[in-house]
Amino acid sequence: ALTAAAALTLTACGGDDSGSGSGGGDAKAKGKIGVILPDTKSSVRYESFDRPYLEQAFKAAGVQYDIQNAEGSTQRFQTIADQMITSGATVLVLDGLDSDSAAAVQRKAQQQGVKTIDYDRLALGGVSDYYVSFDNVKVGEELGKGLQKCLGDKDANIVYLNGAPTDNNATLFSQGAHGVLDKVTRYKKVAEQAVPDWDNQKAATIFEQMWTQQNGKIDGVLAANDGLGNAAVSILKKNNAAGKVAVTGQDATVQGLQNILDGTQCMTVYKPVKQEADAAAKLALAVLNGQKPETNGTTKDSKGNRDVPSVLLTPIGITKENIKQVVDDGFVKKDELCKGA
Ligand code: BGC
Repeated sequence: ALTAAAALTLTACGGDDSGSGSGGGDAKAKGKIGVILPDTKSSVRYESFDRPYLEQAFKAAGVQYDIQNAEGSTQRFQTIADQMITSGATVLVLDGLDSDSAAAVQRKAQQQGVKTIDYDRLALGGVSDYYVSFDNVKVGEELGKGLQKCLGDKDANIVYLNGAPTDNNATLFSQGAHGVLDKVTRYKKVAEQAVPDWDNQKAATIFEQMWTQQNGKIDGVLAANDGLGNAAVSILKKNNAAGKVAVTGQDATVQGLQNILDGTQCMTVYKPVKQEADAAAKLALAVLNGQKPETNGTTKDSKGNRDVPSVLLTPIGITKENIKQVVDDGFVKKDELCKGA
């Protein structure tokens, strides 16, 4: 275990060039696919992973595409969708900011004969034709199991830093984590709060309040992603408690993985985003060509009372022991994990 960690501790830091906006392909297939990503602040995944992997997949398929980021604005999200439709997109792949605004975009698209696919987050009450994501309850279970592994046999006070209350995934993550941790009688939940917009700064403020209220008697932090986890770690550092409190995360970001190597974060959840991007591209292409795409299940939309045909992928819990897997998979480069990046 330690050898893997040691092998990853390197000195040279390479830059990361993320995807480069919209573009076209050889246009073998007719029509155009539009993708809208939610923001750039709640996670680095969108510009560092989703965009380049989606670009790769669309280029390989030789289809016209346009990938844009709504930068956290629901208004901008709708404007981008309108522009994509005007410029010929007939399939939209949407990673919404919140269910209501994304569902509104879907309804407007449907009225114009445009098909929509929910990407990663399901828009509750929407009218999408398909959904592609990871099994998000399973993500939560991995968070719970990871925290349990890090806490070991001791009695523990646990706090929850959940994702945005408007993100259905955040609900599922919390549900999965509770499913595991609530069964462990030596654990006590002492606080739980949702972080608006997954905002890392707000997460730090919320966690600092929890720390003060609990007089520092916190043993475990169920943080729903690496950004929230790192926010907790930053407050723990201020209180000389980093490394003594088990903190979880998600997305296998460079920051999160470095924290794991440092021992300030105990685990992350790796979601091979390439699989998700490839599955979304495949779905979108089939829809574009009027074919019935392959799915592997359905997802219940609790608000819309419908079952959405879905492609659901499997997340992987990562600790110091198997961190090498993320590198071997090509998700991050060894030299990206170096110090001071
Ligand atoms: C995604 C996570 C991401 C979070 C914040 C969730 O819906 O599934 O991967 O960390 O949003 O962007």
